[in-house]
Amino acid sequence: MSKNKSSESVKVVVRCRPLNRKEESNGPAGCIVQMDLRLGQVILRNPRAPASEPQKTFTFDAVYDANSKQGDLYDESVRPLIDSVLAGFNGTIFAYGQTGTGKTYTMQGAWMDPEKRGVIPNAFDHIFTHISRSQSDKQYLVRASYLEIYLEEVLDLLDPNHGNARALELRESPESGVYVRDLTSCVCKSIKEIEEVMNVGNQARAVAATDMNEHSSRSHALFLITVECSQPGPDGRKHIRVGRLNLVDLAGSERQAKTGVQGERLKEAAKINLSLSALGNVISALADGRSGHVPYRDSKLTRLLQDSLGGNAKTVMVATLGPAPQHYDETLTTLRYANRAKNIQNQPRVNEDPKDALLREFQMEIARLRAQLNHRKWRTKQKKEQVDGEGWERDGDEETEGEEDEEEGVEKDAEEYVKLEEQRLEREKQDIREDQFMLAEEKQRLLGEKEKMMGVLRKEQEATEQLTAKYKAMESKLLVGGKNIIDHTNEQQKMLEGKRHEIAEQTRSEREIQQQMLVRDDETVELRETFTSLQQEVEAKTKKLKKLYAKLQCIKAEIQDVNDEHVRSRQELEQTQNELTRELKFKYLIIENFIPPEEKNKIMNRLTFDPEEDQWKFQPLVPAESKSSSQMKKRPASAVGYKRPISQYARVAIVMGAHSRYRAENIMFLELDMTPPNSAALDRSTESEPNQSHSLDNSPTKDRRVRKSRSWCQTPKSITSSSSNVSLAACHTATPMTAQ
Ligand code: ADP
Ligand code: MG
Repeated sequence: MSKNKSSESVKVVVRCRPLNRKEESNGPAGCIVQMDLRLGQVILRNPRAPASEPQKTFTFDAVYDANSKQGDLYDESVRPLIDSVLAGFNGTIFAYGQTGTGKTYTMQGAWMDPEKRGVIPNAFDHIFTHISRSQSDKQYLVRASYLEIYLEEVLDLLDPNHGNARALELRESPESGVYVRDLTSCVCKSIKEIEEVMNVGNQARAVAATDMNEHSSRSHALFLITVECSQPGPDGRKHIRVGRLNLVDLAGSERQAKTGVQGERLKEAAKINLSLSALGNVISALADGRSGHVPYRDSKLTRLLQDSLGGNAKTVMVATLGPAPQHYDETLTTLRYANRAKNIQNQPRVNEDPKDALLREFQMEIARLRAQLNHRKWRTKQKKEQVDGEGWERDGDEETEGEEDEEEGVEKDAEEYVKLEEQRLEREKQDIREDQFMLAEEKQRLLGEKEKMMGVLRKEQEATEQLTAKYKAMESKLLVGGKNIIDHTNEQQKMLEGKRHEIAEQTRSEREIQQQMLVRDDETVELRETFTSLQQEVEAKTKKLKKLYAKLQCIKAEIQDVNDEHVRSRQELEQTQNELTRELKFKYLIIENFIPPEEKNKIMNRLTFDPEEDQWKFQPLVPAESKSSSQMKKRPASAVGYKRPISQYARVAIVMGAHSRYRAENIMFLELDMTPPNSAALDRSTESEPNQSHSLDNSPTKDRRVRKSRSWCQTPKSITSSSSNVSLAACHTATPMTAQ
């Protein structure tokens, strides 16, 4: 990827946890990871290799050894990123490493111990402290969401019925990139509230998992914070900046054993690390820079992190290592992974005035509610004036009062007005009661009217109260700089914090300079060297040759390693493929032998592939447009001449006159006119129509009716002619009742 002015590389830091008790007791082999904090280097020793084999060295933006504190990592590597998010950039921090190496410890840590609080709680502190200390013309809206990706399904951890919630879909918009549809997002007004959100999510995660460690090592947890900030610009208009922060605790990077599993377990095994291997491929493709295609769409995780890797975001990757010799292979893989990620170039930019900023919607809603309240106030005032004929006492200076006073005034006015009105109505009621000249009926009516008026008054007051409450609730969601949160820190503490940042900044730049110096060292040494004799030159050159030879050996070993790893992963993929093919053959066997071909075809014709969701879906039977009208599908048209669809069998039966059941079409066949009006007519009928039943009347009118009824039936010619050779039984077995 070409470097442009605004591009910056992904920051990669490595952290190694201390040996745990079990590992300590394992023997004297000890730690295989050494760290040079000053240079930001990790030196890895292969416990199985002979001592002569050179150790592997990797350089990163920063390294943290077993003695490192959570605060150090935060101040040096995370704080600048959170500052950027507060300024309107997108930011991502993700922890990558084998299970048990301290990803969750780094991201969350021990909440209760201030020394051991991880990146996430420190970020909460940082964000809200920043807001409380910012200028009062800034308005903030902070939202948080929490999700996990488990077996390639995105699950909302803040959904109250997380257990049975269905997987969420990913969508893409030009404004905010890839996002999760219908994801719960909570507006947070304080550190306490956002911590509560985190707790709720963590509990949902724990409930979903029977064995927490097992679950967490297979699922990716993403905590998303959106900070929107509105500030008046030089043009006098309010401008909104939106910073999105992704805090990602990835699944364990170790290879899951896939051997000997079948069915559901196999599917699960195939999906477990799909996201992680896709992440690896994305990182490789981006770091390589030559391959045009970056396979973001291969997994949910890579799609969600699309912006964080090679896009519009600032990204920090924390690779965690275990120091124990038995995990050498995994540690090496993690270091290689991290080393590759260093080369990814991002193009972060400030998200200014995006269309989907929620803060703007909130501001508009607040303005609307305020206008409504003002309108009510004005109405109340008008009524009051009507009631007592006098103006309000506070009339004159009202408009010049501050907003808050004004709101208080609204409530006061309303209360005062209601009180006065109630008193007036009570008085009037009393007058009516005491009026001796009025009829009892009239009294009742007037009292009823007054009661009604009081009801209306109370209702109106309730509505105003509700509106005020809504307005206040809405407004409280917006945090105003330097106002909503009481900052307990005193000046001295603030200064101390400032100094700590300065030191962190200095350490970082010192390390950068050291690293640059190291690179240049070789060149400058060479340039400075002047040789007094040939012998000296030979010695120097031999030394250099040896150095280069050692380097060459290192690189050769590295190539061998990478090759081995490649072969290993290919074998694993082949194995998975074989198992999946076997599974597929099994499914085919069932389909071929147990599902009728026409059923299979019907199903196949209805299936379509949804690339968005990466799934096969059934097309609806009823077209989408008619679904909305909630009408039944139109009845199929019957064959011409029939009132309703008639089966082949029925048609043949009509022709044969076999059973009265099939004459249902022809009402004239119902035995209604059984009794003949006179015998003479009967005689004639017997003569003229020998096929008709003797009991049938044959008067001219009836005759017409019979003929007419026949015309309804309109037995098609083809059937009449072929009826002789159509076997009823055959028709019956073919399509007993279907309309043709
Ligand atoms: P992961 O999330 O990578 O599976 P955890 O964060 O759960 O690993 O860490 C495993 C154990 O190691 C935990 O008991 C944790 O307290 C401990 N641990 C990890 N990193 C450190 C560290 N830097 N310092 C002290 N203890 C650590
Ligand atoms: Mg974990």
